[in-house]
Amino acid sequence: MQKTFPRGGNKRLPDHKEATAGKPILTLPAPPIAVIPMGQHIGAPCEPLVNVGDKVKVGQPLGRTGAFVCSPVHSSVSGEVIAVEERPLATGRRVLSVVIRNDGKDDTVPFEAGDLKKMSPDTIRQRVKDAGIVGMGGAGFPTHIKLNPPKPVHTIIINGAECEPYLTCDHRLMVERTAELVEGLQVMMKSNGATRGIIAIEANKPDAAAQVQEAVKGRDGLSVEVLKVKYPQGAEKQLIKAILDVEVPSGGLPCDVGCVVSNVHTAVSVYEAVILGKPCYERVVTVSGGSVVDPRNLLVRIGTPVQTVLDFCGGLLAEPAALISGGPMTGPPLVDLFGPVVKTSSGIIALTREEAGFDQNRPCISCARCVKACPMGLTPNLLGEYSHNELHDKIRKLRVQDCIECGLCSYVCPSKRALVTWIKKGKADLAALRAKERVS
Ligand code: SF4
Ligand code: SF4
Repeated sequence: MQKTFPRGGNKRLPDHKEATAGKPILTLPAPPIAVIPMGQHIGAPCEPLVNVGDKVKVGQPLGRTGAFVCSPVHSSVSGEVIAVEERPLATGRRVLSVVIRNDGKDDTVPFEAGDLKKMSPDTIRQRVKDAGIVGMGGAGFPTHIKLNPPKPVHTIIINGAECEPYLTCDHRLMVERTAELVEGLQVMMKSNGATRGIIAIEANKPDAAAQVQEAVKGRDGLSVEVLKVKYPQGAEKQLIKAILDVEVPSGGLPCDVGCVVSNVHTAVSVYEAVILGKPCYERVVTVSGGSVVDPRNLLVRIGTPVQTVLDFCGGLLAEPAALISGGPMTGPPLVDLFGPVVKTSSGIIALTREEAGFDQNRPCISCARCVKACPMGLTPNLLGEYSHNELHDKIRKLRVQDCIECGLCSYVCPSKRALVTWIKKGKADLAALRAKERVS
């Protein structure tokens, strides 16, 4: 029987994956101008290593810092640095960036290939760190830290659930780069001593499941778990519960129950970093939604403007009602189409009015659908209301910090209340208050 997590969730969320799931990944030409932000990850932003006028090559480090939580960034083109200045991300925030005029030569730094058999766990982590690998599902947490957890780990789960509607970049990677994915998982297992590696795939990707199952045959400790389709199965806590039937404690981490969860693209990038010596300067992006002329999965150089990616897909049919970076349930709005694709840009989704619905924020009718749907057992109706009204003590008592921001409460609400938007703000307010308390 296919497993899933027991509490809340939604089995009938339309997945809208048909537009891109069967199309092979195409490579987008490198942009004439690449904008490489110094902060594409959780943690301290990098400090630039180059100045205006410098010549750079593909794969050359452009920024790093000595901060513990940080990840270096690399050039995605060869050419000349024409600016080091603040530029807006596609999601609006301004970040110090290195701007490079592409000379079209694709001069690349030499990649130093590695032999896994001869590598220690420390060497693996150093190579992952040097290559700038971060969680590419959207979180952006530096992977070398995840591979060195504070507690012993017995299992690594590769999250191939890709439960967000529209997104299919991980699906295509599982189909087209199966061997690299499996090897990336083995690299990760060696780095943190895990003896078990599980690739979790939802049942709506039977081609990927069959191919990965074939690839892990006869490999010690590796297996595939085909899961029932249910949103938000790709969330770490839900995935661990579904597969191992254990609960990560409130406020805890997967390593508290002996696990690390990593996404498919991240595992492929770990393979590239450790075995090929290739840094992270490109990624696969799903471009989809009813407003896109020709939806696709594209291999895109980091620093390419979102508009260029959309143009390659034939542009937009009409003014979209919503433009989103990542999946529509959890992704932030795209506000600047000249902003660059970054390491965490899993999707560029342009929705029609019909697909997006619209936020009406009508009064709550106390139907409790949001409570029933919440996979974390929370009361989103109250959390939303109290967060909106800045009642911090109340949201603390109602465990607002346990919200995984899956967006399901807003999705199921018949009054179209912006519950998850308010709750995210409530969480941010509490975090700011805690930081203030620590300082005073
Ligand atoms: S966004 Fe938070 S409160 Fe809403 S359903 Fe998801 S976990 Fe529950
Ligand atoms: S789903 Fe919407 S209307 Fe129903 S209880 Fe929750 S907030 Fe209120």
